[in-house]
Parts: sequence; C-alpha cells; structure tokens
Amino acid sequence: MKAAELNTLQQLLNDSGWRLRFNEELEREFQQDYARRYLAHMQIAGIMGLVLFMTCGLLDMIWMPEMAGRTWFIRLVAGVPMLGLLLLSFRRSISEHYLQLLTMIFFCLFAGGLIAISLNSLNPYNYYYYNAITVALVIFFVLSRVQFKWAILSAIIMWLSLNVGLIAFGPAINKLAIVIITNYVFIGSAGSALMGTFLIERSLRQNYLQSRMLSLENRDLEESNLTLQYLSAIDGLTQIANRRSLDRSLTIEWQRALRKREPLGFIMADIDHFKVFNDTYGHQAGDECLRVVASLLKDYARRPGDLAARYGGEEFALVLTDSSAEQAGIIAEQMRDKIMNVIIKYKKNSPTHVTASFGVASMVPGSGQASPEALILAADQAMYQAKRSGRNRVVIYGQPEDDQKEQNTQQEINRKTG
Ligand code: GH3
Ligand code: MG
Ligand code: MG
Repeated sequence: MKAAELNTLQQLLNDSGWRLRFNEELEREFQQDYARRYLAHMQIAGIMGLVLFMTCGLLDMIWMPEMAGRTWFIRLVAGVPMLGLLLLSFRRSISEHYLQLLTMIFFCLFAGGLIAISLNSLNPYNYYYYNAITVALVIFFVLSRVQFKWAILSAIIMWLSLNVGLIAFGPAINKLAIVIITNYVFIGSAGSALMGTFLIERSLRQNYLQSRMLSLENRDLEESNLTLQYLSAIDGLTQIANRRSLDRSLTIEWQRALRKREPLGFIMADIDHFKVFNDTYGHQAGDECLRVVASLLKDYARRPGDLAARYGGEEFALVLTDSSAEQAGIIAEQMRDKIMNVIIKYKKNSPTHVTASFGVASMVPGSGQASPEALILAADQAMYQAKRSGRNRVVIYGQPEDDQKEQNTQQEINRKTG
C-alpha cells in the first residue's frame, strides 16, 4: 500500500510534463495544504493592494483635484468589496476551499477599479493608471502565489475589461495607436507574469510531492523502528519478554525499589525433566509446552513493574515489585499449582502434564551485598535446591531447612488431597 503510494509519487515526480494537476485525491490534499501554507502570502498581497489602491486617492487630490471626488467614489465602489473579500479570507472554512477564487475576484476588482479610474482621469494622468495595471499584475501574480489556472482567468478578464474600457470610453484621438500600445504592454507583461506563475506552481507541486514522499518514508522508518524495538524485547517462541528485557526491567525496578526502600522479589522457574518430555513427544511438542507455560506465567505479572520473562531454554523468571520472599513464595506456589494442573496436548501425542521447580528470593536494594545479580543467583540456588529435594516444589532462598521441609510436606499433602 505504502510502496504503491511511493511509486505513484515517484512517477509523478519523474513526469516533468506541463500538466498542473494531480489525481483527484492528491489534488484535493495539495489544494488544502496550499491554502494553509500560502494564506498569509495572499493576505499580505491583499492588504498591500488595498492600501496602495486607496492611498493613490491622495495623489489624485494633488494632480487633478477637480476629478478627485469621482475617483474616490470609484475607489470606494471597488475597495469595499475588496475589503470584504480580505476579511472573508480570515474565515478558515472559506479560505480552505475558496482562497484562489477570492484572490482572483480581489484582483479583478483591483484592476477593474484602476481601469475605471484611468478612464475617468485627466490626460495625461490616465496613462499612469494604465501602467499601474501592468505593474500591479506582475507584483500580484508573484506575491500572492495565485495558481496558474486562476491567474490565466484573471488575466483574460482584465484584458477584456481593459479593451472594452479603452475602445468604448477611451480617448478619441490616436485611439488605435493607444489600443495597440496598451495591448502590447499588457500582453507582454501578463505573458511573463503568467510564465512565472506557471514555473512557481510547477516547482511548488514538485516540492509537495517530495515532502510527501519524505514523510511517507519517515513513517515507514518509524514503523520499522517500533517493530525492531518489539522484536528485540520479545522472545520469538513464547511471545513473552526475553532475557534482554528481563535484565533491563530488573535494573529499573531495582533502582525504583532502592528509592522507595521496598523489597524486590524474584522467582526462577525450571520445567522438570524437560529433556525427557522432548525425547518422548518431540521438539515441536516441547515448543508448544514452553508456549503454554509462558502464557500461564505471564498472568502472574499483575502489578506495574512486574515482569514475566523467558530466562533461557526451559527456564522462566518473574520480577515482582514490592514483594517479600514470603509474598513471592505464595505466588510461586500458585504458579506451580497452575502448571501442574494444565494438560498439554500437541497434535496426535497423548495429553500429558508437566511440572516445574521454583526458586524464590527477595532483597531490599541498598542493604548489605544486595544486587540484581545476587538476587538472580539466590533464586537460582533456591531453584536447584528444589530440584535436589525432588522437583515440583517451591524453595525460598535463605529459609531454614526445617521450615522448608515443613512447607514441602504441606505442599505434598495439598497435592495429594487435591
Ligand atoms: P531438570 O528437571 O533437571 O530441569 O531436567 P531437564 O531435562 O528439564 O533439564 P536439562 O537441562 O537436562 O534439559 C533441558 C532441555 O530443554 C534440553 C533442551 O533440549 C530443552 N530445550 C531448551 N530450549 C528448548 C526449546 O526452545 N524448545 C524445546 N523443544 N526444547 C528446549
Ligand atoms: Mg534448565
Ligand atoms: Mg529443566
């Protein structure tokens, strides 16, 4: 999907034709982006145009005071709607869809006003206004960022008004010469301004395509980054945290426990006789068994900061925040019980049970020789103690042998009585 979009963008970019239009959806988004990006340009062009249009009235008072009243009237007739259009452009819902149209109407009003003023002005001052149209045209096309299509429309409307004005109301003497010269100047400057508008729009469209491609590629990169982060934290077989996440989370939780002066619990679990399981049912059944055990253990990481992880092979670990050895021991016992009661079935193999042995330890960071490594080692030693004492049991590190024995007997009784 993304690759296809990138491909389309690249193709459009390579296609250096003369068409100033994308496909429908892209064009709509381009226009929205354009309206947002160049709103300020258009508004600045509009404000400057309006100020110039009105302040020119002061010059009329100097060079043709007898006509100033009439030209002020024309300025007001064109200037008030121009101001209205400018104010409309500040409404987002309008500027988003109609900015180009507003700009075109604004400019036609501006040019129409100038034509009317020049026709109502005394000779030779009227020629200043004709020239002003041409100058305004060039400035407007470049400054306002009006798009080529709308610029052409404005130019045609202006050209028609200019000629109708000149032919119908223009000077009686030398009319033909004046019409020819005016047309020559107008068409020459409008042509150049339009060419500029075309080239600017073309390169803005290319910029748009490029920035779109860039943001697509960036998004792609971000997604692959997230996937990588996920992959590097999760064990591929069991889909729970891997050893790397375990180490990281242990370091973080150790620091947190140190600040809060809380005990940090750790459980090490090892499936019993797993080699035999593999030899009997096959490695794929062994894998399935690891997945089942992992999904059971995962449910015991209940508090924020707790984490169940695959330590390696058929060994699992659980980090338990704010847990004493006794509290962690209770959870280990629940896990042991849960695993023992689960039936594992893989394809045509006969359903079977597995058991696991658990070593539990807890330390308060900052006390004595406590460290994350010492915590893991303690749980590991307790786990081997559980193996030595007959497997399928929980041993808490540092608990006196007698207590342990008593606890194991209790476990045995519980097991038998169900
Ligand atoms: P114990 O009760 O003393 O823990 O005996 P055990 O057989 O479980 O321990 P041992 O260390 O002898 O064997 C562990 C077995 O776990 C050997 C290995 O093939 C198996 N194993 C380790 N990782 C995987 C795995 O990803 N998939 C499968 N199917 N087996 C694995
Ligand atoms: Mg092992
Ligand atoms: Mg084992």
